[in-house]
Amino acid sequence: MVSRDEVMAALAAVPGPDGRASLPESGAVSGVTIRDGKVFAAIAIDPARARAMEPMREKAEAAIRAIPGVTAAVVTLTAEQARGVASPGHGAQGAPPRRHGRPSEPLPGVKHIIAVASGKGGVGKSTIACNLAVGLTRLGLKVGVLDADLFGPSMPRLFGINAKPGLAPDGQKLLPIESFGVKVMSIGFLIEEGAPVVWRGPMVISALNQLLREVVWGELDALIVDMPPGTGDVQLTMAQNVPLAGAVIVSTPQDLALIDARRGIAMFGKVEVPILGVVENMSYFVCPHCGGRTDVFSHGGARREAEKLGVPFLGEAPLDIAIRANSDDGRPVVATMPESAQANAMIEIARRVADTLAAGAPGAKPAPRIRILD
Ligand code: ADP
Repeated sequence: MVSRDEVMAALAAVPGPDGRASLPESGAVSGVTIRDGKVFAAIAIDPARARAMEPMREKAEAAIRAIPGVTAAVVTLTAEQARGVASPGHGAQGAPPRRHGRPSEPLPGVKHIIAVASGKGGVGKSTIACNLAVGLTRLGLKVGVLDADLFGPSMPRLFGINAKPGLAPDGQKLLPIESFGVKVMSIGFLIEEGAPVVWRGPMVISALNQLLREVVWGELDALIVDMPPGTGDVQLTMAQNVPLAGAVIVSTPQDLALIDARRGIAMFGKVEVPILGVVENMSYFVCPHCGGRTDVFSHGGARREAEKLGVPFLGEAPLDIAIRANSDDGRPVVATMPESAQANAMIEIARRVADTLAAGAPGAKPAPRIRILD
């Protein structure tokens, strides 16, 4: 059994971020996880120096790999809150490197990459992403989920996954974890839960590329990417660096959320990613006792807004206790209550997404350019 002490001893030979103190002395190493000879670790760095830190990351990986008994090592670069960089979602410091046009490099074997995004947190973006993925499998598609919500990865919980990903026989790539027929990879598998991490431009690209390209996805019809909520630099960087077929925007009916949703649409417009459509979540409330329906938040706002903006409306999901309780238990309603009204609502959304993809819409119609008046 490889121990954490052995890992730290091996890392003592590698100079840390300042080039003087060793990695363990620098205090930059976190999230050391060891499973069956496979070692995962994170090094906290100044995000502005992410590219310059890449050789250090490689040396750390090599040092860990050289420990007898270690079969593979994965080291990622992260940044700590304490280092005083901008708060997530607000681009106060340095915009990410601007890329014009669509990213060119597709992901081999993956037909469509779809972002699920929202203008703000808490609207049920991840819940919709999870059920959309399972819904697409029910329609016969091969589906993966990449949980790129760096600020609050929730796919491990939503899919009920408590394991760490294994490594492929080549010892380099990670294997996604299959749950409810969906291949799942989450940033949450690689960073310590609750660790305060701030991600910015270059690090986001590095982490994203690892999750996208150093994972054995196999053949997929659709890879759903659960984006971080909001429309700051990190989100823009992601939208620019993933070869997206299109984006699904999740909103609640409240006006405020719709303003946020418009920001989301505008962000994808900036990087010329087509909007597949808008989903209205928590659209109406169905009483678990009497079955009566209440439009808590003036239902229908997202549909009207989508029409106004000229983007498709993909459907609505109710505000429902079973959705919340099952989601929190890692039991997506589409899989665990397959005949329910809640599951049907989600499957309708999946069907519209699948139809849009089949119709070849992605790429045909970039998101409208929307100006947000503050
Ligand atoms: P986001 O990804 O937008 O931050 P989540 O998917 O994590 O949002 O959802 C936030 C909370 O709302 C979770 O507790 C989730 O179970 C709950 N939730 C999401 N959608 C619904 C819904 N349609 N009905 C009831 N609860 C929901």
